[in-house]
Amino acid sequence: MSATNFWPRATKYDVHVLQLEYPGTLSDSARALINETLVLTDVLRANQNTEHRWQSQITALTTQRLKTAFLSLSTHLNDKDSKLALEWRAQTFDDQNTKKDLCEKIAQMDEKELVCYSGAMSTWVGKSKELFYSTFYATPNENLQNVSNVVDEHIDEAVLTLKNNVNPELKCLPFCGYKIVDLFASSGEANLYPKHFAYFMPEDEGGKYAGAKRTIVFANVYSALFDNISTQRLAVYGWVDSDLPSTNNISTYLIAWFRGHDLGHSIVTPATSFRALSKCDRWGSMVLQEALADIFGLLICTTSSIVNELKLDKEKLARVYLLEMLRYLRRGPYDFPDAGAAYVQLKFFIESGCLELNSKGEIHADLAGFYPAVLRLAGHLSENILQGNIESAELFIRSYCPHHDVENCTNIMAKIGVITDTLEYEQRIREV
Ligand SMILES: [Zn+2]
Repeated sequence: MSATNFWPRATKYDVHVLQLEYPGTLSDSARALINETLVLTDVLRANQNTEHRWQSQITALTTQRLKTAFLSLSTHLNDKDSKLALEWRAQTFDDQNTKKDLCEKIAQMDEKELVCYSGAMSTWVGKSKELFYSTFYATPNENLQNVSNVVDEHIDEAVLTLKNNVNPELKCLPFCGYKIVDLFASSGEANLYPKHFAYFMPEDEGGKYAGAKRTIVFANVYSALFDNISTQRLAVYGWVDSDLPSTNNISTYLIAWFRGHDLGHSIVTPATSFRALSKCDRWGSMVLQEALADIFGLLICTTSSIVNELKLDKEKLARVYLLEMLRYLRRGPYDFPDAGAAYVQLKFFIESGCLELNSKGEIHADLAGFYPAVLRLAGHLSENILQGNIESAELFIRSYCPHHDVENCTNIMAKIGVITDTLEYEQRIREV
């Protein structure tokens, strides 16, 4: 059992409350059933904390009751895919052998009414190598789904631009689905800290190497992280609110970049082998895969058709990206691969002169020099990491990854500080 529900360890936390409203279309009985599954999941999660005589009996009885509740809940829904996904979800508690197939089938659903996941899940790499019981409910966010779809529709043009500007060998592997939702209820491990806002399914529920996969993104949680935490550092860059996209538009920028990041994971050359790189330096490989995804994701968003269709301002996109880079980095460069990736990017931008970090932790950003530096970083990363040359990849890892660059990283972190901000969900449905 862990000594605290928070992670990484800190002596204090600043907790920001995100209110989660449930959909008004849910009947009283549906709300009661959802509540019951949330409580049962908390019981299952608590039951994982210590070994005792009745542990497996409690798990067996509780999951049977969960199964019945999901089956009942499905009868309260109207949308075909939402109902079917819940029926399959119920069956995942019966038999571990059929769970893999069922989870893959659920990953292919296009729920229009309710997205529900429940079962043993992992949340953060490094924090939960084990799977812990979690349940979450969300509603599809159609507007932001359209933003993500626009990025997908122009991926061929984006890859062509990357081939012309970065490396002619680049190509895009088949990519996973992306489901943009707003979270409205969460329990078990998923409701601990820090809150996890993107799940790779079915991988995060234990289904490795699945044929059908999709990423579930909680758009409202992601926006709350940006609003509450990233924007705290506006003054560090010397910017003001009006330098950013308007409040109504900020999610478009975040989701476009985040979808770009997801697609960025699929951009490789014919010689790329992350498996070989992971054997040499697993953490370094994970960090650089995240850095590649961040940089390709940003460049994908700057593709002409995507910029035009989503009406993105490239300078504002650069500021959103730089604020997010700082938020990721300040979560702890040794604790999360994506925070390590933020360090790689910051270090490169400082070296290339487009960012200057002074002793007070203030950053001067030369936005005119920013995108040329991004292209240079994309070039270095693809040359050293994606061409299958392990020696040059190891050299790059040793120069840029925080776990090999501890002294410089410690100096930078002393200037910019670690984040102890975290989100708490106020779940209205649990009041019923
Ligand atoms: Zn990633």
